[in-house]
Amino acid sequence: MNNTVLKINNLNAGAEGKTILHDLNLQINAGETHVLMGPNGAGKSTLGNVILGNPQYSVTKGSIFWENTDITTLRTDERAQKGMFMSFQNPLEIPGISISQFIRTALQAQSGQNIRFKEFRTRINAAAKALHIKPEWINRELNVGFSGGERKKIEMLQLLMLQPKLAILDETDSGLDVDAVKTVSQGIETFQQNSDRSLLIITHNSKILEYLHVDFVHIIVNGTIVKTGSASLIEVINEQGYEPFLDDK
Ligand code: ADP
Ligand code: MG
Repeated sequence: MNNTVLKINNLNAGAEGKTILHDLNLQINAGETHVLMGPNGAGKSTLGNVILGNPQYSVTKGSIFWENTDITTLRTDERAQKGMFMSFQNPLEIPGISISQFIRTALQAQSGQNIRFKEFRTRINAAAKALHIKPEWINRELNVGFSGGERKKIEMLQLLMLQPKLAILDETDSGLDVDAVKTVSQGIETFQQNSDRSLLIITHNSKILEYLHVDFVHIIVNGTIVKTGSASLIEVINEQGYEPFLDDK
């Protein structure tokens, strides 16, 4: 019980010579859902990027552990192989590669094994159906010509197919209409049903959290976590904004 998936110790990190994250500590255990909230520019996306090992960012102090192994200097692809996944605020367009090809390649890279086409097709069709994704979409080029809401649904498809141990969702809900928010939320809920999967959800929108089980809420201000609480903290933020937490740092 309580197997630690991710442990961040006293992390200081930044980009272009500027320190963005200061003395940040965070622990995520298997099966837990954490929500990260905070004002614009607080360092939420930076934290996601640093966890994933985006080379644009450098760690100047502290460490990141994955299942008791120090991964602070591992490459992004090595972290992904361990079971880490991140959806981005602005998903990439990849012309020339279909959604289906992209997901099959990612699955094979993750498992190191070839996946038979028929088996893959059956799985992706079932996942697409659960997310109300039109079957013909999966042969289209990744994110090319899709609307914002459609792209987010495709990310949920990747999430359900890859079944990472830890998924970091960076404002997956931004710019979505109510129906799309519901679909994305249902996708996350389906992911949560696998009881040892962990989530770090970065969001401003408590709507998406209504349908989800949330274990911890963290508030980040000026690159450090100033408050951690239960799901009830979301209501406090909805009513009072981040103002009460700004003085803490
Ligand atoms: P949030 O996601 O909480 O809105 P970000 O993590 O995107 O905030 O950004 C935090 C701060 O770090 C901002 O001031 C932003 O301009 C700066 N920042 C983020 N990424 C970079 C980068 N690659 N290079 C320089 N500054 C960056
Ligand atoms: Mg951000």
